[in-house]
Amino acid sequence: MKQILVAGGAGFIGSHLCERLLDEGNSVVCIDNFYSGRRENVGHLLKNPNFELIRHDVTEPYRAEIDEIYNLACPASPVYYQTDPIQTTKTSFLGTFHLLGLAKRTKAKLLQASTSEVYGDPAIHPQTESYWGNVNPIGIRSCYDEGKRVAESLCFDYHRIHGVRIKVVRIFNTYGPRMSENDGRVVSNFVVQALKGEDITIYGDGAQTRSFQFVSDLIEGLLKMMATEDSFTGPVNLGNPGEFSMLELAHKVIEKTGSRSRIVFQPLPPDDPKKRRPDITLARNKLGWAPSVSLDAGLEQVIQYFRERL
Ligand code: NAD
Ligand code: UDP
Repeated sequence: MKQILVAGGAGFIGSHLCERLLDEGNSVVCIDNFYSGRRENVGHLLKNPNFELIRHDVTEPYRAEIDEIYNLACPASPVYYQTDPIQTTKTSFLGTFHLLGLAKRTKAKLLQASTSEVYGDPAIHPQTESYWGNVNPIGIRSCYDEGKRVAESLCFDYHRIHGVRIKVVRIFNTYGPRMSENDGRVVSNFVVQALKGEDITIYGDGAQTRSFQFVSDLIEGLLKMMATEDSFTGPVNLGNPGEFSMLELAHKVIEKTGSRSRIVFQPLPPDDPKKRRPDITLARNKLGWAPSVSLDAGLEQVIQYFRERL
């Protein structure tokens, strides 16, 4: 039985990861400050004797004897990460710094949840891991984008200098059950708006694209990445290469929910990337991984989830 620490484990992705790690017979410690996550996300796991939930802010050091660390602690929705941008940068930098220190002391492996945002508003398409990105270092997204970039930098320096075993994954837009109703990201916004019969808010003209990955595919990729040989550090893209405009997404959601909502257009926030699609050749070759859930199938599950909640 492995002792596994999941930082940010009460969040959307973290809760699915904790569940899966427990199912595989591991002992899981979930630390979270509940900034954008919820106790309720892991409420069903609390009765499991191999699960422990601890309120802890990763900007402070955490001590434990541990075999593996998944660092997911960081708000991922622009609405949340821009509310307290200084805390966002602190979380990415200090959080990763403290967890790398823990990995060094305990000789644990650390998987860092990085992001497609390290590519910024990309000048090459689709994005490969060798692309260095096009990030505005002083804009309203930079607390998140630069925070995640410095976190990658720290991982690689701890690896080169202290020999810490690192696994860096760049996650592309992921959606699924347990996103919160007011999360602010596009899939949950559109589905909740459609189910409530409210206007569907497209920012800009809706021509910008994203590639949406269902959460179960991501969890599979995270586990496969953690299990690779020590010499493989990444970074590796994890995402679904299907690419859709926000207008296409809105129409899909309206059709699938049978909603009478209207589409309205609102101003595009600054630095909003115009397009995004992962090149997943490396993940295919190194992890033997590819996503299997289509946007249509994944949306059905999310719609069902929010129907039950609302
Ligand atoms: P989320 O906001 O639901 O989860 C983040 C979790 O981290 C929350 O439970 C939050 O309370 C916790 N957290 C935030 N700051 C913390 C701190 N200082 N100390 C302890 N806990 C803290 O978001 P998510 O979508 O589940 O994302 C999880 C991770 O994956 C994040 O690191 C995010 O950057 C990364 N990621 C997600 C996506 C995506 O599309 N969902 C894409 C790229 C990267
Ligand atoms: N978006 C939108 N309406 C919304 C929320 C988001 O049109 O209600 C757009 C947003 O401007 C961006 C895309 O959807 O172009 C994805 O936004 P999200 O916040 O989900 O993720 P990110 O921009 O971080 O990829």
